[in-house]
Amino acid sequence: MSTFRADLHIHSCLSPCGELSASPRAIARSARERGLHLIALTDHNSARNAPAFAAACRSEGLAAVFGIEITTREEVHALTLFPTVKTALEAGDEAYERLESEPFDPGFFGDQVWVDENEEIEGMLDKLCILCATDLSLDDLGPWCRSRGGILIPAHIDRPAFGVLGQLGFLPEGPFEAVECTEPLSEDLTDPWPVIASSDAHRPEDIGCRCLEFEAPEADFEALVMALESGKTRALYGNK
Ligand SMILES: [Zn+2]
Ligand SMILES: [Zn+2]
Repeated sequence: MSTFRADLHIHSCLSPCGELSASPRAIARSARERGLHLIALTDHNSARNAPAFAAACRSEGLAAVFGIEITTREEVHALTLFPTVKTALEAGDEAYERLESEPFDPGFFGDQVWVDENEEIEGMLDKLCILCATDLSLDDLGPWCRSRGGILIPAHIDRPAFGVLGQLGFLPEGPFEAVECTEPLSEDLTDPWPVIASSDAHRPEDIGCRCLEFEAPEADFEALVMALESGKTRALYGNK
């Protein structure tokens, strides 16, 4: 068994709030410099940067997990994490399809671009991926995610905007694989689920500012899920 560090909530230039400099390559480089072993890309309601992210993590020697931060019908943010690029792309395209679109002004919100391995822009999303919700409910998301081999983690549950406690006033029954908090919360609010901390970085320099320590034989998706199930994880809120 070894101890690894993971950041399971990172945005790239595909998120309108993510800086254009947040290319998959810049993300992977920053994560390696900060001593992380496994990272997840979790853009809002799309996974189009997953292929470039896979290549970038490979060249930095990092384990990669492919995710989507989905906005549920209740306007709750939830991390859905998958072991392969292909599943994440399919799930992401479905989430995007199910997003209630709003007129989108890139001048105001910033572009939502995806890139290839060489950081060349490959395409741009037309629908605004924040401030709009999908028609998936938080209850729908568990089976939706697990039928694809993924896991579900409600994001920043303690944040007033888009956190489940702020939006609904309570934590629904689940099941979840974990819940993400931005600071230590009373177990009354998170039980019975494991708690994770992650950066929610929108700039490469913020990656790893919060992270998850886990004990496992190796750093990969399956070992991470096992560590969550067996209580071998620890949320780090001020990872300097
Ligand atoms: Zn969020
Ligand atoms: Zn986020």
